[in-house]
Amino acid sequence: MSDNPAVQATQSLVTQIVSGYVKKNQVALADISTVINTVFKSLVSLGKAPEPSPQVPAVSIRQSVRPTHVVCLECGARGKILRRHLRESHRAKWGLSPDHPITAPGYSQERSAFAKKIGLGRRASPRRRRRSSSGPLNIDKRERTTPRTDYPLLSPARSSASASNWSAMRRSSAAN
Ligand SMILES: [Zn+2]
Repeated sequence: MSDNPAVQATQSLVTQIVSGYVKKNQVALADISTVINTVFKSLVSLGKAPEPSPQVPAVSIRQSVRPTHVVCLECGARGKILRRHLRESHRAKWGLSPDHPITAPGYSQERSAFAKKIGLGRRASPRRRRRSSSGPLNIDKRERTTPRTDYPLLSPARSSASASNWSAMRRSSAAN
């Protein structure tokens, strides 16, 4: 016997119900355990929330990714990008305000501080524009007409020199 009062109460109920049932109905001895089990399970499941049925996607997951669109598994909406739809349906589903954040505020602050640090979102100042006009692009223009011996110090990845310039440069550095 169990020490749990709830289980004891259930067992006592099972005894009452099964004995009452057996008195009024003919039950084969082999079937009594089935009757007891059925009654016990019914009593235990009373008051319990039904098991949530597994959610079925609007379309199969395989069909939700197409070359031209992706499909919302919740409602079947199609779009080239679902980010905005998911954000809005999430807010609608839970009754959230339109400005309810979907990005952690601390992370947003970090990102915006970083963007400011690297100069994003700021209008280019006259100083910056002047600097860029005499920047690497102009050096490259000069290189095209008068190759410099220190040219190889410029990173090839950042250079816009043409292939012919590169081979000319390689020839000149081989001659040195
Ligand atoms: Zn949807």
